Amino acid sequence: MSENSGISGDGLIVVVSGPSGTGKDTVIEEILKKNKGICVSVSMTTRNPRTCEKNGKNYHFLSEESFKEKVRMGEMIEHAKYCGNYYGTSLDFVKEKIKNGIDVLLKIEVKGARQIRKNCPDAIHIFILPPSMKELSRRLKNRQTESEKGFEKRIKTASEEIASAKDYDYIVINKDKDVCAKDICSIIYSEKLKTSRVRSKTDVIIREIF
Ligand code: 5GP
Repeated sequence: MSENSGISGDGLIVVVSGPSGTGKDTVIEEILKKNKGICVSVSMTTRNPRTCEKNGKNYHFLSEESFKEKVRMGEMIEHAKYCGNYYGTSLDFVKEKIKNGIDVLLKIEVKGARQIRKNCPDAIHIFILPPSMKELSRRLKNRQTESEKGFEKRIKTASEEIASAKDYDYIVINKDKDVCAKDICSIIYSEKLKTSRVRSKTDVIIREIF
């Protein structure tokens, strides 16, 4: 992993972005069910918890003051403001998992993803697209988590985010959550076989063949 970030180990950082309502949570849940060596980072946020959300499980919910203090102390590997609230990823959490060979999924928006690209050049970036904007609106409405204003903001932000999809290493379409989860697992599996990732072990692997 990157030397700039002080993160090293056999685990991979896997950035998963996609507009609000694309179904990232459901797809990630599916991935975690089937893969013991993968975890998801629980982000910090200043957003108010939704009725179904639990502190420490869905997010670590913080005041804006505590959030900014953590940023000042360098405790976040990335952070961003999204639709009026702050979100960020704990550096210590990611460091610990990567050191222990566990892959970490970062379910983050595009500005945070850019910071990861810069600070952790080995990370894999995957963008999940909805099948259509109409379907995205339908899913976001069905979720019933946003006010009318919040809904409008998220749909507007979605169009801007989709324009960044081309900067990602992989694009997957979430038409069916199982297929989408399988696609992402295949990407992670293939990435682990890349010679550039096993370079230090390649000589040993080849020697053992003879
Ligand atoms: P929501 O409010 O719907 O839970 O999340 C809003 C957006 O913030 C989503 O696109 C989600 O992926 C993103 N997000 C969640 N946690 C983080 C984080 O730690 N950092 C960044 N940059 N984005 C995050």
